[in-house]
Amino acid sequence: NLFISTNMTIVKKLKLKGFKSFASPTELDFGNGFNCIIGANGSGKSNVNDSIIFVLGELSAKSIRAEKSSNLIFNGGKVGSPMKEAEVSIFFDNEKREFPIDSDEVKLSRFVRQNGQSIYKLNDEKRTRQQVLELIKAAKIDPSGHNIISQGDIISLAEMKPDERRKIIEEVSGISVFEEKKEKTLQELGKVDSKLNDANIILKEREVHLRELKKDRDQALKFKEIEESLKNNKATLLN
Ligand code: ATP
Ligand code: MG
Repeated sequence: NLFISTNMTIVKKLKLKGFKSFASPTELDFGNGFNCIIGANGSGKSNVNDSIIFVLGELSAKSIRAEKSSNLIFNGGKVGSPMKEAEVSIFFDNEKREFPIDSDEVKLSRFVRQNGQSIYKLNDEKRTRQQVLELIKAAKIDPSGHNIISQGDIISLAEMKPDERRKIIEEVSGISVFEEKKEKTLQELGKVDSKLNDANIILKEREVHLRELKKDRDQALKFKEIEESLKNNKATLLN
């Protein structure tokens, strides 16, 4: 039930330590192309999926199938002892610099303590959740999008109302992006229209003003003409 396609970014490796059923440090090396995790029921396949959602900053424990964040930490199972902290690290290939970071590999880590507090690290240096989210966004990874399909998602997709299902299919196929762009462009067009309208009103006002000026000018010219002829007539009279 694990299917990830992170646009252009490639997940190279996943490291789990104390996360859910993974008590001892566990590394999953992914090969190029399609990867598949196979295991018996309850062996931890969905927990791997959960770990990816977790490391990408998910706030709701329920979305990672846990009552509260501290339940993400290995609870000791049947024989072991509970651990104090859970760690998930995801290693991305960054040779093509999808992340705005000057290193060939990007290691993103999240730790959670028994008190529910989370710590984030980028290439082993502490970062805020916000910084991590911005970085993920820059690499065009959308954890809330539909590239991560959890157990049960397919069933709910099948049971959904047709219009709800259509929305998801539009989102997955990328149509909704164009719908948004179209919406934005139409808004811009509306703004331009109203600006054009304003400009037209001003233009009309100027035209009226210009006509008045022309009237004044014509009158002044006529006055000058009459004044001139008056002067000439007076001169003729004197002679
Ligand atoms: P299925 O094939 O049935 O979907 P799965 O391989 O997806 O199974 P998961 O749901 O990933 O299995 O794993 C479930 C196991 O993880 C359960 O045995 C559960 O006890 C264990 N588990 C969950 N949380 C913890 C925890 N905090 N500490 C220890 N074990 C845990
Ligand atoms: Mg499962």
